[in-house]
Amino acid sequence: MATEVKTTCPYCGVGCGVIATVGDDGGVGVKGDPDHPANFGRLCSKGSALAETLDLDGRLLYPEIDGERVDWDEALDRVAERFSRTIAEHGPDSVAFYVSGQLLTEDYYVANKLMKGFIGSGNIDTNSRLCMSSSVAGHRRAFGADTVPGCYEDLELADLVILTGSNLAWCHPVLYQRLAAAKAARPQMRVVVIDPRRTMTADIADLHLAIRPDGDVALFNGLFKHLAASAAVDHDYVSAHTSGFAEALSAAGTLDEATLAEATGLAISEVAAFFRLFETTERVVTCYSQGVNQSVAGTDKVNAIINCHLATGRIGRPGMGPFSLTGQPNAMGGREVGGLANMLAAHLDIEKAAHRDQVRRFWGAPALASKPGLKAVDMFRAVADGRIKAIWIMATNPVVSMPDADAVEAALKACPFVVVSDVLKETDTTRHAHMLLPSLGWGEKDGTVTNSERRISRQRGFLPPPGEARADWWQLAEVGHRMGFSGAFAYTSSSEIFAEHAGLSGFENFGRRDFDIGAHAEIDRPRYDELQPFQWPQPRGTESVTTRFFADGGFYHPDGRARFVAAASGVADRLSAAFPFTLNTGRVRDHWHTMTRTGKSPRLSAHIGEPFVEIHPRDAMELGLSPADLVALESPYGTAIVRALITERQARGNLFVPMHWSDQFAAKARIDALVPPITDPVSGQPASKNVAVSARRFAAS
Ligand code: SF4
Repeated sequence: MATEVKTTCPYCGVGCGVIATVGDDGGVGVKGDPDHPANFGRLCSKGSALAETLDLDGRLLYPEIDGERVDWDEALDRVAERFSRTIAEHGPDSVAFYVSGQLLTEDYYVANKLMKGFIGSGNIDTNSRLCMSSSVAGHRRAFGADTVPGCYEDLELADLVILTGSNLAWCHPVLYQRLAAAKAARPQMRVVVIDPRRTMTADIADLHLAIRPDGDVALFNGLFKHLAASAAVDHDYVSAHTSGFAEALSAAGTLDEATLAEATGLAISEVAAFFRLFETTERVVTCYSQGVNQSVAGTDKVNAIINCHLATGRIGRPGMGPFSLTGQPNAMGGREVGGLANMLAAHLDIEKAAHRDQVRRFWGAPALASKPGLKAVDMFRAVADGRIKAIWIMATNPVVSMPDADAVEAALKACPFVVVSDVLKETDTTRHAHMLLPSLGWGEKDGTVTNSERRISRQRGFLPPPGEARADWWQLAEVGHRMGFSGAFAYTSSSEIFAEHAGLSGFENFGRRDFDIGAHAEIDRPRYDELQPFQWPQPRGTESVTTRFFADGGFYHPDGRARFVAAASGVADRLSAAFPFTLNTGRVRDHWHTMTRTGKSPRLSAHIGEPFVEIHPRDAMELGLSPADLVALESPYGTAIVRALITERQARGNLFVPMHWSDQFAAKARIDALVPPITDPVSGQPASKNVAVSARRFAAS
């Protein structure tokens, strides 16, 4: 008799519900969960191929020290001893954790508690820094806290959906399916896609704006000015619930038509059509993703968008609001429990003494870190220059995914002590580890994740742990115990950790009502096993559901008002005669991150089987390229060799290369080796778009 288990897809931030079926012969099938509010039974190509990625080929099954199998006791003792010794000799900031949006919230919670609470350093950061930290920073500047004001249903209810820096069709496919279905059912709905490339998402667009890379701030500042000059401003909302309108408006500059056209690369008629649509449509949702976030001006871009929604009061009501799309399955869960170096658990602020005191008392953690730690790019710089002497990397592959990836690889090679917890034995990163710790993968591990609309769902195990693989939270708790912090890490299950996290979120009712999931603070194992998807908040004593915030104000700045923020444009990388092309990186439909999982599925690899560079036909002609020729791309930081895909979907002077392939899958394919390690000054998010590169024909097809 087959067993059915309800769980959650481990890929993108849509967070689709999955029903996994395990047959008597051990075979696994998957289908969409019709009851899950994120997907109502839908799955995309990646989600529906999950069963094809579960074989044990290449799995890391046992702990290893210097390539030799050891037992868990020896491995955990070694990690604890090396971290303790390094801290004793060089202080707590000489060690670091680099974690991942692939971790479950419970794993994240324990990692953050160990590093910030008991080791006493802020040096824990996450690969989510690479995908959405500019949105977090933008939310905090505008709202006073990192709250997502709306929900997926808003995309279906809106009369105008703006997708900027988001290839929703490929990167959040089920949400795209929901949007496309709503558009088909509601002819009055309009979709605007703002992207230098004409992606598949643009196929449903009424207006595609092929914006110049990093032209977003100018476009939305221009829109802000246009709205201010029109009747669309909601003066009652602005005066009752916001501050800084006049200052931000003044800072937006004059932005005459010629300036706007130059800054955005758009025809003024296109800009005017966009402005008119926004001005005249009440129900507007603006979705943004990596094309906005991954920029030296990522946070300003986010705030330029939010300014337009605050000015019109179009926020927190059905079909209205700015909406940040998270990339990873649990980027949001990491935000909830302090996975970012500049945050504490429960959305509390490490730079506020009262917040630190609250967490210190709740955890019984006198050594709690007193300042933010190093964000991802700075963390690997500190590994490179020797300030960090021991690093534990969990569930991520920075040698492929970090900017200036060759330098990250060199840093790990030189680091005195590198621990990697992963499901795979051989990745570009594990080969530089002194110690490997085998982790549970999807279908084996057990905990919660939070999607882009704040919905917490269970990931449930339905397969036995392979070899000696163990949960990441267990590994962390065991090391914490061995470092002498026993009582604080005496967890026996993920449900205990979730309950503690829920308890902290509602601790002392610290005025953080929107993050409070205290209703689950006493959850026991049976109720945890039965936990149904829910959106935060759910404070103690309530079963209420809050799907939207801020329709009536109630922001988190001390005066309860949102802030308009003066947003300035920034340019990531300047073109030159030596590096005349603008490179944008991104994803393809059927692969996920560095392909350690999707690379196992022949079906998924059949969609696009090798790395490529999209290039406009005129640029290809000038370079003497024929279709499928090999192209060498270079920046001052590195080189990649990929195949030419000549297409008019690409704007002239721009190149697009997916970020998935590593040198394991194709020679010289790590595109992040070309990306400079420069970041948004507010969020610390790397600028993985708008990179200046050269291109030349390398070899014929
Ligand atoms: Fe998984 Fe995202 Fe596809 Fe849903 S849309 S099935 S969460 S990859």
